[in-house]
Amino acid sequence: CYSSLLSIVCYSSLLSIYVSGPVEEENPEFWRAQGCDLFLCAIPPKVWALPPSQHARILKGQMHNQSGEETVMTMDTFPHAGLLKTYSVDFQIPDSSSTATAYLCGVKTNLNTVGVNAAARNGICKTQKGNEVTSILKWAKDAGKSVGIVTTTRASRKWYSDADMPASAKKEGCTDISQNPSVDPIRVIVIHELCFSMTQRDGRHLISDWQKMKVGKVARYVWNRTDFDAVDPDTTDYLMALFEPGDLRFDVERDPTMDPSIAETTEKAIHQCLWVTSSVSFPVCVSGGRIDQGHHASRASMALHETVAFDNAVAKGLELTNEEETLTLVTADHSHAFTFNGYPFRGQSILGKSPLYGKDMLPYTTLMYGNGPGYKVVDNKRPDIRNVDTQSKDYVQLSAVPLDTETHGGEDVAVLARGPMAHLFHGVQEQSYLAHAMAYAGCVGRDLRHCESRPQHTNTQRILVTTTDDDRNSAPSQVSSISLVTALLAAVLH
Ligand SMILES: [Zn+2]
Repeated sequence: CYSSLLSIVCYSSLLSIYVSGPVEEENPEFWRAQGCDLFLCAIPPKVWALPPSQHARILKGQMHNQSGEETVMTMDTFPHAGLLKTYSVDFQIPDSSSTATAYLCGVKTNLNTVGVNAAARNGICKTQKGNEVTSILKWAKDAGKSVGIVTTTRASRKWYSDADMPASAKKEGCTDISQNPSVDPIRVIVIHELCFSMTQRDGRHLISDWQKMKVGKVARYVWNRTDFDAVDPDTTDYLMALFEPGDLRFDVERDPTMDPSIAETTEKAIHQCLWVTSSVSFPVCVSGGRIDQGHHASRASMALHETVAFDNAVAKGLELTNEEETLTLVTADHSHAFTFNGYPFRGQSILGKSPLYGKDMLPYTTLMYGNGPGYKVVDNKRPDIRNVDTQSKDYVQLSAVPLDTETHGGEDVAVLARGPMAHLFHGVQEQSYLAHAMAYAGCVGRDLRHCESRPQHTNTQRILVTTTDDDRNSAPSQVSSISLVTALLAAVLH
């Protein structure tokens, strides 16, 4: 959700490897064309269910003293589902910046680049100019709608200020995150480690600059729970909340007296966008980015608990919005090298061990990774974990290949949809389809023909509502608001 905040990202260890994708895919129109004729997709699909999060579902049930497998997560209740292909233009398995560009900007791009099309080259700042693309947040803002962002992670991985940037990057026209004007229109921002003035050589300061831009408006910045709770949407026009100097702590390690949960920040964002702006629709993007980081560390307990916290945020979003008016989507940006294996007994801890030993007469855990920091083979022998508490929050799952950090996976990810126009999200699509379908449903962006011909009126809740046409084959209804909920992982959603 924050792709438009960032300029090109030039940090990759893959910097020295340049792999070109098909040249036609460097043209953003290639991807936009695939999302344009959405009338073809506006056919009620067969409703089917896709298990989105089997491991976290079991954990959620076991946290409530149930067997777990039969538990119904909030995500499980979404009636429409589809699959998204996540590859980037140049790699089979993507990173989070290229996927964010796909599902928010509607254009696939190269690994480690964000907010630019595939004609821009990773690590070569001068190729950014002229290849920028805009996101659905910008399209919504241009249509006069409110937008909000909530995430549990930092907004970037590098270049928080100009002090972080190499001279060559500055010379070629790259900028740090504090100089990105797209922060301006966002009504609610709950992100972390955005920018701090201590390291800003040019004297700019994102927070104070942001407040100064809000002439005649009430723009509040908060950094702790007490101030956050005190924010009244009725008397606040814009809200920026930054609770930690880096990523938010994992939910099970969070100090609830200082930091709110992702469900609580989601609630605040919806209140701020829905009730303050009173008359227009809004996209609110909620990202459970710490799920991804739990997997990178091969700490399955952390990743699964984050997913449960994320599901609670989805539930909060549904509680505060009207299914008749609000399109809510749950998706992931990519998968992980994560596996759910063995033959554990029904009701056995999801963080436990398979009752069947390997040929080496040693047990293994139900959850494992294909690669990552959990490679522990010594003298050709796996470690004996019979007396190891694998349910500990700090336990690092075994992996087959040694890496400092586990990699993403290349499986398709699910998109789950609920509310008006949810039927657009079905079948197997390119990930870039998501942005175009959301824009179509929300009547923002380039193709508004189906919106212009339809009458609009407001209801008693002061929200733009749909026309009441149930014939989805010929006349799609209009969406009042969109909540996009992304787990920045997808082992749980593939
Ligand atoms: Zn990741």
